[in-house]
Amino acid sequence: MQAAKKNSPSNKRQQIKRIIHLNNEEFTVKELSKMYNVNPNTIYSRLRRNQPAITQNEMNNLNQTNYYSLGMDRRYMSVSLFKKFDKCEADALAYLNGEYTSFPNAAMMVGNYTHAAFESEEAFATFQEKHNSAIFKKRGGKYADYEQADRMIEALKNDSFAMFAMEGEKEQIYTANIFGIDWKMKVDSINHKRKLFTDLKTTRDIHARSWSEKYDGWVSFIEKWDYVLQMAIYRKIIEYNTGEAYTPYIVAVSKESIPNKAVIYFDESRFDFEYEYVEMKLERISEVRSGEADPVACGKCDYCKSTKKLNAPVEVGELIYV
Ligand SMILES: [Zn+2]
Repeated sequence: MQAAKKNSPSNKRQQIKRIIHLNNEEFTVKELSKMYNVNPNTIYSRLRRNQPAITQNEMNNLNQTNYYSLGMDRRYMSVSLFKKFDKCEADALAYLNGEYTSFPNAAMMVGNYTHAAFESEEAFATFQEKHNSAIFKKRGGKYADYEQADRMIEALKNDSFAMFAMEGEKEQIYTANIFGIDWKMKVDSINHKRKLFTDLKTTRDIHARSWSEKYDGWVSFIEKWDYVLQMAIYRKIIEYNTGEAYTPYIVAVSKESIPNKAVIYFDESRFDFEYEYVEMKLERISEVRSGEADPVACGKCDYCKSTKKLNAPVEVGELIYV
């Protein structure tokens, strides 16, 4: 994620233009557009016709268009927002307060491209059309990252077991009230007949290992990126909606020149640890989110680095324990 400064002079000029009152809060058109993912021109045209800037539907109903919007992140907890708070409270709160806008970086775009390939032919074509200049070179052919992604897509498409694991309805949205708050989730693939769901993950090396403070030991990329936690929460939200505990799988493909691949399942005993972990952390997150507690800055994320002011030296031994 890259952070963009919000109050550039040109933004300030626009902000003075028009203030809209919504739910006892004041917004500019730009802010509302970002909040509910509605085109600013649509908002201006509604205002000219004396219509509400944002419809009740856009404001209240979670859908494919507003799923990743700031407005819905304010309303719902999600695995990614939980992970953001867990990593750095100051960063998560600044994001929720609209202090910066995050947009996908190059690596995330390649990930989205790979996901679109397995969503549907239509979704894949739309994605390529929309991001044409990022994917295709002017003189023809694709940029190296996308050629690599094509090799990864092909590696999975040529594997009937991986394709079997991904059979189902794509990009389904669910919400549920668990651990006392409302959550949202969007699953890559869900199969109600087989009572399973699957998430597609791209990674540098399927067998890489890293040290984890959380698990106090060596872990794979699955634990490193909190994918066990993600699967555990998804399982609970889906159970809330369907009344049954579905089996989670991860289909992983590596970014190596010859892509490696695996269909990964989880021993059920892993989930209880994650539920306890989420429950324990949520208490603190709720306090920070509601303003009862001040956020703690991690000191090393992009947000902290960009707002950091030095006032004392650090002893060499402290460096690896921040
Ligand atoms: Zn931080």
